[in-house]
Amino acid sequence: IASRPNELAPVKTTCPYCGVGCGVAMQPKSGGESWQALGDASHPANFGKLCVKGSALGETLDLTGRLLEPKINGQAVSVEQACQAVAEGLSRVIEQHGPDAVAFYVSGQLLTEDYYVANKLIKGFIGTANIDTNSRLCMASAVVGYKRAFGADAVPCSYEDLEQADLLVLVGSNAAWAHPILYQRMAQAKREQPDKKVVVIDPRRTASCDLADLHLAIKPGTDALLFNGLLAYLAKHNHLDAEFIIEHTEGLVLALDQAEQTAGHDLTQLAQSCGVDEADLTQFFDWFANRPRTVSFYSQGVNQSTSGVDKSNAIINVHLATGRIGKLGAGPFSITGQPNAMGGREVGGLANQLAAHMDFHQPEAIERVARFWRAPKMAQQNGLKAVEMFEAVHRGEIKAIWIMHTNPVVSMPDADFVREALQACELVIVSDNMADTDTTRCANILLPAASWGEKDGTVTNSDRHISRQRAFCKAPGLAQADWWWICQVAQEMGFAEAFNYQTPYQIFMEHVALSAFENDGVISRRDFDLSGLFSLSEQAYQQFAPTPWPVNAQHPHGQARLFADGQFFTANRRAKLIPITPQSPKEKPSPDYPFVLNTGRYRDQWHSMTRTAKTPRLLQHRDEPRLSLHPDDAKSLGLAQGDLAKVSSRLGQVMMPVELDAGLVKGQVFAPIHWTGVYAKHGRIDSLIPSHTDPLSGQPESKHAVVNIQVW
Ligand code: SF4
Repeated sequence: IASRPNELAPVKTTCPYCGVGCGVAMQPKSGGESWQALGDASHPANFGKLCVKGSALGETLDLTGRLLEPKINGQAVSVEQACQAVAEGLSRVIEQHGPDAVAFYVSGQLLTEDYYVANKLIKGFIGTANIDTNSRLCMASAVVGYKRAFGADAVPCSYEDLEQADLLVLVGSNAAWAHPILYQRMAQAKREQPDKKVVVIDPRRTASCDLADLHLAIKPGTDALLFNGLLAYLAKHNHLDAEFIIEHTEGLVLALDQAEQTAGHDLTQLAQSCGVDEADLTQFFDWFANRPRTVSFYSQGVNQSTSGVDKSNAIINVHLATGRIGKLGAGPFSITGQPNAMGGREVGGLANQLAAHMDFHQPEAIERVARFWRAPKMAQQNGLKAVEMFEAVHRGEIKAIWIMHTNPVVSMPDADFVREALQACELVIVSDNMADTDTTRCANILLPAASWGEKDGTVTNSDRHISRQRAFCKAPGLAQADWWWICQVAQEMGFAEAFNYQTPYQIFMEHVALSAFENDGVISRRDFDLSGLFSLSEQAYQQFAPTPWPVNAQHPHGQARLFADGQFFTANRRAKLIPITPQSPKEKPSPDYPFVLNTGRYRDQWHSMTRTAKTPRLLQHRDEPRLSLHPDDAKSLGLAQGDLAKVSSRLGQVMMPVELDAGLVKGQVFAPIHWTGVYAKHGRIDSLIPSHTDPLSGQPESKHAVVNIQVW
């Protein structure tokens, strides 16, 4: 590691893994030869604690496997040659086929400054909105849910609310593994307040159920029906907040009518439809009715669904109908998977966003952003979302794609189709810090990217705190920060003036300026507002302490909890309850494919393991991908613990050792998302997942595919 041996004080930065966004203090050891990750006691996400992944960060910094120089068709080239080749390739495709033949597929691993310039280049200077982030696979449904209800992609809660709630409802979340520090905060709060109740709603009995007073193992896909039933129950038993509804919302009558029509008032019937015990269902409803401090904490189990947006709004509806929002210990709270999924949303990293939380359906916003950027070729409409984007690559309509810090050949649904698309694509550019991944194998041009610990910028975590990531190592070889590569290419393409940044600070300040540019009443109230940082000096940026947006005159130190005043970001400032018609998952078990496959994270691994697999102690938890199967199902298939199983869907097959898990309902199986073609030849589980998506959010249904299982 090329380090800074004279600086022996710890460097404060943020963890590169999950959306909790913990503060990390990297302590140099042996005169700066190595580093130890300690929790940053001053960070409001974790107050000095780290989970096992975070605490192992110092063990993941070696250069094994790093991409250290640019390559064109496998041959090492200079930085100048690489930038020229990318610029010429993109320009040629634009000239011959138009801007929509170009796409960027980016990542929640990018820092906000990286995201900002990528978005500016493609939307303002290339002239297409074909930029989407792998956050599409993570929280796109929650985004649309918030926008429908609140008029903006605005997470209402603060982590403190998890501790202050009298009732915590975890829906489709295994926080114990996916967001461990938040789970620890919940567990600590429950130890201190034994009367606090925790309900876990999840088809699978997960590690998070250890904290639960009640586990509702609902049938997959019945979340919206359950929350519709809860809304009907709350209305019938006079637990709605009439004053809040009248003053601050609209849509209750239609939403309630739909809830009553779909879920009814017969709890016996509802429990049966949801696959849970009636007494448990009644207990949950009773706790919800009588504990005003309620937080509903939801994650991929809700979002990764063909009706993820509706599920999200069914949850939000019960909070709006009971006035449980904007108050200490109350609110609907979606948790993102990645360290900067929120920062990407803020700059416009999704194909259906413009920039700074503005959208393409507002002509005045397009004009405003074009004027601010002095953009010569402003995109005028939404681009293609992730699944659509790779379909367009497969059809040959997108001829050049630049993939940054993500591995879609592993993580996208129908991953073999994605690989096929990239292999046939005219120009595939991949920026990564690792040389050999399933996706770098498809690249024509490889750009070595600086990794965590080597680059500076900001990230935003799940409760809207903007925090600094700080470099403590020099980037090795010819690796450079992503914003730097993007700016070099933009300059080569003829946009020198607009991309003449020297530091991430300059980019951040432009992002700040855009957030409140002409905050002129055309949009009644801009939610994402950093105008309080207009005069942030470079030194203050270096020392910037975690701050929740918005940051403006009214909230100079940020705002922990939104909507305390009952004012939302809709045109009439009222939140909207949405009528929800529950939908079943797209695929149904059949004699050929009788099992339902659920996918998710292991506790100690991260995404496609390029960092976490470097640490033997993180592999101790699980050193291979396993197919979790109910013991009775295993027995009927002639499989025992450790046997190899063939898991097949209509898209293909993978091989996995069996792990018996009585926490699964019979007929359901679980497999992890992490293993790649590079690490385990037969473990790419997303090659089995069909690319069905939510029609509103474009998020794939990664938690519900039908499969067959046989002895290998
Ligand atoms: Fe990192 Fe998430 Fe663990 Fe915090 S909880 S240390 S952000 S992986």
